[in-house]
Amino acid sequence: MPWAIRGLRNGILTTRYPRHPDPYADTFPARVTLQPHTETADTATLPGLCPTGAITTDRDGRLVLDQGACILCGACVRARPDLFAYQLGAETAALDRTALTVPRLPETDQAIAAVREQLDARVKALRRSVHIRHVDAGSDGAEEWEIQALLGPVYDIHRLGIFFTASPRHADILLVTGAGSHGMAAPLRRTLDGMPNPTIVIAAGTDAISGGIIAPSYAVEGGIGGLVPVDVWVPGSPPSPFSLLHAILLALGRLPAHHLNPDAPPGRPR
Ligand code: SF4
Repeated sequence: MPWAIRGLRNGILTTRYPRHPDPYADTFPARVTLQPHTETADTATLPGLCPTGAITTDRDGRLVLDQGACILCGACVRARPDLFAYQLGAETAALDRTALTVPRLPETDQAIAAVREQLDARVKALRRSVHIRHVDAGSDGAEEWEIQALLGPVYDIHRLGIFFTASPRHADILLVTGAGSHGMAAPLRRTLDGMPNPTIVIAAGTDAISGGIIAPSYAVEGGIGGLVPVDVWVPGSPPSPFSLLHAILLALGRLPAHHLNPDAPPGRPR
């Protein structure tokens, strides 16, 4: 009886994202970005700040940040808050690997539009229920916790007609975590080959995108991009359940238009 009363008092806790924005999503440091006006910064010592090489400089000495290599350790934000900031929210996934580089190249928007068009044509058939096969290709387990949360009452991915399956034969989406260990190269390829067309491949987390802190190494590829063709890249170490949800819906072309511009203003994590 007390549980029934508590349930009635709490009401419905399941998020209404993406139909409605969820303020809870804005409490996660989803990725790191550059503050405005970093062009004139003295960049000589900055690459040494980053343990994964996500911070570099271009030919003209301007700061470049690869969000696909960032493990969100926060070292740069703590050391140089005038140059780096956390970005909050769910919209972190990209349809093109180059779109994870800040500042974005001028041609990136065109490339993304072309990829969006091709992907839309491929996934046209996936209008009803969609099934996901998750493969751990050398993960440290962090992403798996977030994926598990998608099945709970807060995110409740089933409300969107999206389910996980153990069989590649029933799967539409291949969700891959981990840095792409050599031992998982063949099983990953076999899983993709066993899926019916059309297939979507999502690289979930910084490790799956670039290998994170353990690449380069004798044991991993440095991301799964060299093992299978990736359609959607989700940075984060790990990405939040909101970011994973955003990536899946982005792949399926099911996001309302206001969720498609990921360039949210920098903010502070909870
Ligand atoms: S937060 Fe990301 S970019 Fe900054 S130092 Fe850590 S890994 Fe590098």
